[in-house]
Amino acid sequence: MNPFTYDSLPGRVVFGAGAARSELLGELDLLGAQRVLLIATDSERRIATQLCAPFADRVAATFSGVRPHVPVEVAELARKAATAAEADVVLSVGGGSTTGTAKAVALTSGLPVLAVPTTYAGSEVTPVWGMTEQGRKTTGTDRRVLPKTVVYDPELTTSLPMELTVASGLNAVAHCVEAFWAPRRSPVASAIAEDGIRHLVSGLTTITADPADPGSRGELLLGAYLAGSAFAVAGSGLHHKICHVLGGAFDLPHAQTHAIVLPYVLAYNAPNAGDATDRISRALGRTDIVEGLRELGARLGVPAGLRELGMTESDIDTVIEDIAAIAPADNPTPATEEGLRAILHSAWAGADPAGPAI
Ligand code: NAD
Repeated sequence: MNPFTYDSLPGRVVFGAGAARSELLGELDLLGAQRVLLIATDSERRIATQLCAPFADRVAATFSGVRPHVPVEVAELARKAATAAEADVVLSVGGGSTTGTAKAVALTSGLPVLAVPTTYAGSEVTPVWGMTEQGRKTTGTDRRVLPKTVVYDPELTTSLPMELTVASGLNAVAHCVEAFWAPRRSPVASAIAEDGIRHLVSGLTTITADPADPGSRGELLLGAYLAGSAFAVAGSGLHHKICHVLGGAFDLPHAQTHAIVLPYVLAYNAPNAGDATDRISRALGRTDIVEGLRELGARLGVPAGLRELGMTESDIDTVIEDIAAIAPADNPTPATEEGLRAILHSAWAGADPAGPAI
């Protein structure tokens, strides 16, 4: 048994179909909140306004200027809105970008965040914040940004378009897979991650037949919660580092990039990560986990390679050094520049991950 340290994170989670409609007022009361800064994008606002109807008199201000990857100027505007409204809580209703904007407010104000996620990003259970300035993304960890309460309501995710559902769900699978070898891995994170994969794959397998199916949506959201929880304590491994650099350098869509790259990192690490491989195999119900994951992606219409996202092959050389500089030193298979190049060329072309490096 390897020694480990596990830093458990506080937070109250309320989960259930319809929970956002029935429980939000009570949760605000538990936080002692009277003046709400609501954060929601324009497309999330219809849902958010309905949810806030029972306590409309407490909504002191609404901020809808959310942008992907939380540009610093957006963070500043949201902070000003909180101050002007004399808010005593930030209520975020939306995806990872919306949660991220609420976190940016909490980072400087210390205001509690009540998060109502509408995608499978998982940010609502992590103490990690991220912001971008002039195209460079900075991330940090601070307990102040960890939402005090999360209300998970699968009904809110039925409007999520299928392409986003798939990409966001596979992004959550990536959180789980990496928890087995990320820097702060532990038996607790691995147990959560294994179960997370099981729920996510169950939801992803049935969701395309009926996008509004409450069972599939519930499985996906529970899986997303578990994935975020595993990621929050285990940290980012090689896969997340690669996607972070690619996203920042070429402005690639976050979730789709994850969905494409994951089988390649899995194929790279699997020969040296026996326990992870066994557990992922058990959760996926497949002996060949790389093939299993690729088949799932193909069935769900994931683009076959990074080239389909607009990246060019010559872009690869420009990011190898940056990835190598932040790759975890204890990645199961050492992340050499040669190895990274092989991963990226195969992932760019959409080649068979188990085949010879391109
Ligand atoms: P997103 O929040 O950018 O949302 C994508 C789009 O979907 C937006 O246009 C949004 O308005 C729309 N949308 C959201 N919910 C919807 C719904 N139910 N119905 C219809 N449309 C809906 O994307 P995301 O994938 O949720 O989040 C990605 C961001 O989260 C990235 O910036 C990533 O870095 C961050 N993230 C952070 C952490 C962390 O721990 N800090 C973890 C995971 C992701």
